[in-house]
Amino acid sequence: MQSTTLLLLAAEGVLPKLDGAVFADVGWEPMAVYEHLDRLEREVAEPAGIPIYRVSAGNIRADALDPTHRFASMPLFIKNPDGSEGMSRRQCTAEYKLKPIKAKVRDLLGYVHPKPVPRGLFAEQWIGISRDEFHRAKDSGIQYLRSSFPLLDLEGAADGGTGWTRDDCLRYLRARGWESTPKSACIGCPFHGNAQWRQLRDEHPDEWADAVAFDQAIRGGNARGNANGSRLRGQAYLHRSRLPLDQAPVDRVTPYEWASLQTDVFGQIADMESEHGDADGCSPWSCRSGSPVAEGAKA
Ligand code: SF4
Repeated sequence: MQSTTLLLLAAEGVLPKLDGAVFADVGWEPMAVYEHLDRLEREVAEPAGIPIYRVSAGNIRADALDPTHRFASMPLFIKNPDGSEGMSRRQCTAEYKLKPIKAKVRDLLGYVHPKPVPRGLFAEQWIGISRDEFHRAKDSGIQYLRSSFPLLDLEGAADGGTGWTRDDCLRYLRARGWESTPKSACIGCPFHGNAQWRQLRDEHPDEWADAVAFDQAIRGGNARGNANGSRLRGQAYLHRSRLPLDQAPVDRVTPYEWASLQTDVFGQIADMESEHGDADGCSPWSCRSGSPVAEGAKA
């Protein structure tokens, strides 16, 4: 939602014109995200002369199930043989999102890896962080990529403050016919909260069936690990209950959902802790999907 807002603001001339926008495709986004991106490109980016670069490091779903492919692990919920619980490390965002974005930026700067980018040469990278999540505004830590967060400096917030909130973005998008902007995240991201799982099950049965099938397929860990002898000794699950997805208690409304509904009533932002369901999907530079390095799983 925040990234779409930035693109529209640049296209309208409220913000300076962008040289380009990069979408890192993990290959397993909901169809609504791809349709949204196509529409954005057609109706906003192209008329404004802003190219959208679609980059990819592969298909995260296919790679997890391919015994010949190195797999950057997803944050799976693990049930160990002794009954204890753990999580596998989250490496997927770095591999499937950051890596192809960095490669594209180097390409645009004219310094494809391994050519060193000269000191002092950098791309300014806008990241869609709204005021309610300002704590996620962090620099990339990469010399040739300087992050900026234009939403945090915008005037015109509904409460008179500086910086747009998620609600301000939503109002802006709604007024321009973009209220259907979907969350970007893998169909089977283990960081989904119950609300997201329910929505997938009830509104997108094909994608739900796809996630259920994937959940069953990764019960013993990723295929490469099994093929090279480093088998997971426990069992892996997509749902935090550590039950098969089609048996998981996704109908349970968590206290965090109730809390977010209540804050919505007062017109504030439901900045749900990602541990209980990310509010706006998987953002590559300022992840809304859980802590960067989760507790290591027993192998
Ligand atoms: S959406 Fe989830 S599974 Fe997909 S890259 Fe982000 S953290 Fe990993």
